[in-house]
Amino acid sequence: MTSDRKVFILLGAPGVGKGTQAQRIASLYHLYHIDTGQALRNEIASGSELGQTAKSYVDKGELVPFDLVMQVIKAAMLRVSDEKRGFLFDGFPRNEAQAEGLTEILNEIHLHIDAVLYLETPFSVLMDRLAYRVTCSKCDIKFNLKLNPPKNEHVCDACGGELVTRKDDRPEVIENRLKAYETETSPLIEYYSHKGLLKSIDANQPIDTVTQKIQQELDLYFKPSGKMLV
Ligand SMILES: [Zn+2]
Repeated sequence: MTSDRKVFILLGAPGVGKGTQAQRIASLYHLYHIDTGQALRNEIASGSELGQTAKSYVDKGELVPFDLVMQVIKAAMLRVSDEKRGFLFDGFPRNEAQAEGLTEILNEIHLHIDAVLYLETPFSVLMDRLAYRVTCSKCDIKFNLKLNPPKNEHVCDACGGELVTRKDDRPEVIENRLKAYETETSPLIEYYSHKGLLKSIDANQPIDTVTQKIQQELDLYFKPSGKMLV
């Protein structure tokens, strides 16, 4: 693998808009957007030895061991074609142990984290964003009844599918997700800040503005022409 590929992490609480930003940024900069759950499903579907081992845990209803997950991520990264100029993690790592694991596999393939983009938003705003989130049961698009409402509260603008409130977006679950984030993931802010990798971005702004702020950071790594900076 060419070692001039960049590695970025999007860090932030649930509801901050990591997923949306990750999709935009990945396509703007030709980055491979790594979804760890998807990587695991792909590996299992491929029938590889690694995938079969992972499947044996899933079949038993057990959690796939951490080391195995890391090997799956590494395998996924190694398979990404050279056209991609780097990698973008979103929602991973979730805690310090995962962060250490990620550094380790990156070392093994001669890569390192270039920057951690921390999307910052007050908790009260997050509660609001999550509490009004509805998801299309057909095409998976998300709307926010307050911030980005569909024309009809129950119908998807894109495909006409029924809009539902996911189990994950119910108020009691939201509170637990935010608490879990605070205890498990927010220490990573300090962790990456110590390593000099953290770039804070005010995410309490319109989605397009947040994208522009992220672009300002990433433009430091990529020339507009698409060539890598040396
Ligand atoms: Zn839809």
